[in-house]
Amino acid sequence: MIIAIDGPAGSGKSTVARMLANRLGFKYLDTGAMYRALTWKAMQRRVDLKDETALCQLTDQTTIEFRSKGKSLSIFVDGENVTEEIRLPSVTNNVHYISNTPGVRQRMVKLQRKLASEGNTIAEGRDMGTVVFPHAEKKFFLDAEIEERARRRYGEFRPSDKEISYADVIKDMEIRDKRDTTRNNSPLIKSGDAICINTTEMTIEEVINLIIKQIGYAGKNGSV
Ligand code: C5P
Repeated sequence: MIIAIDGPAGSGKSTVARMLANRLGFKYLDTGAMYRALTWKAMQRRVDLKDETALCQLTDQTTIEFRSKGKSLSIFVDGENVTEEIRLPSVTNNVHYISNTPGVRQRMVKLQRKLASEGNTIAEGRDMGTVVFPHAEKKFFLDAEIEERARRRYGEFRPSDKEISYADVIKDMEIRDKRDTTRNNSPLIKSGDAICINTTEMTIEEVINLIIKQIGYAGKNGSV
């Protein structure tokens, strides 16, 4: 079974997807982390982020893996744990070069389908319901008001990151939303058959319960 969850940054989709996967005993596929991981490697190698041929070659030479330990999930690039590095603002600001490169997306989609074929999966990203898993059993599109999404993102920052203001977070989010929704390749759009959830005034628990109700399955030990 594949459950697709799409939505913009700060909509709550990562937290919901991760907790839902734990609750249901499903695999969690964080596709944003995959684009971030490749961006991190391209930056390390000083690959020209506008050179499609070089980026495709880099993708072919890169092994991206998820490893889980208890409830935590880490991402590895060529055997190196880059879970923290891929969240750096420099990576966030450059990921759009990678995610808007058709050849890279083709390769990523192939890998995402392979990973999901290994078992029941909660697949989270921007194009899960539209492109990668058009036949997913259930699709959800999470959204929230931009002020609330920025407030959530700002709240996640460590004290050392706090030189970035809340106003800057809103500005960065607007730029990223625009890039993700207007790009040529697999833009962020709601799939026609996705259930839309506005999470602005909802807790994570409420969103998870709503999704569980919709899919009609609460895991091996639960009931709906
Ligand atoms: O979800 P996250 O914020 O980690 O995603 C980082 C970036 O990766 C997004 O802004 C988007 O450009 C890209 N992405 C994508 N397709 C996905 C997941 C993420 O293009 N399925």
